Amino acid sequence: MENPESTWFGEKNVSPEEKTNNVIGVFDSVADRYDLMNDIMSGGIHRLWKDRFVRMIRPRATLDGRSIDYLDVAGGTGDIAFRIRRKVGSGANITLCDLNDNMLIKGRSRAIDKGWFNDFNWITGNAESLPIPDSSIDIYTIAFGLRNVTHIDTALKEAYRVLRPGGKFFCLEFSHVRLPMLARAYDTYSYAFIPFMGEKITQDRESYQYLVESIRKFPTQKKLMQRIKEAGFEKASYTNFSAGIAAVHIGTKL
Ligand code: SAM
Repeated sequence: MENPESTWFGEKNVSPEEKTNNVIGVFDSVADRYDLMNDIMSGGIHRLWKDRFVRMIRPRATLDGRSIDYLDVAGGTGDIAFRIRRKVGSGANITLCDLNDNMLIKGRSRAIDKGWFNDFNWITGNAESLPIPDSSIDIYTIAFGLRNVTHIDTALKEAYRVLRPGGKFFCLEFSHVRLPMLARAYDTYSYAFIPFMGEKITQDRESYQYLVESIRKFPTQKKLMQRIKEAGFEKASYTNFSAGIAAVHIGTKL
């Protein structure tokens, strides 16, 4: 049986293939204004979440005398990979993989603006079938990406496959608010403000409507942790950010 999220595109019932194509369409449409919209929608808080997420990884350049291999899946315009790069300098191998070429093109031009001409490998690929060899990655990150993946469990198994023994999985994603009062305010804010701003700034209300609805469909913290364990990971855990508006899930491949 399909997982429920693989046949939902926001509130619509679609086939898994349609879902993947629709997600590509969403990010084609928003790529140019993606970074600006993130700042507006979150009042800049996404930057603090991403900073904290990358601190949790404790990035370093080398391990036992060799460069560490980082893979940032759904890497988009580079926010996570750039933060890792800032912490580790030029000594690590950092690969970004994303389904959407336009997001990666935007990311490359941002990297060049920062003077990073050759610091990353940029790969177009699906989190469900990564073009990456088995057991070749030390740190796998995915930020605000897993929610958009059609088959979440397939992506989790792929993460497990590409990690080396001892490698770690880190996922930052919108999640479920734990405080009822805050949950109500957050619902009102997200259903009214986010699609409205999406329309004003990107002339695309539907993509931002999808964003809000996809958050509601995403598994709860505990369910996602269970699914990470089922993919093979040990020591699975999660940490809520901002009372559960977002959460970081971690797993280790032993
Ligand atoms: N990680 C970046 C960040 O935190 O700013 C970008 C997040 S953006 C909300 C989601 C990204 O996931 C988009 O770039 C989209 O193309 C990518 N994506 C969606 N489904 C994907 C999949 N199945 N495989 C790889 N990337 C995917």
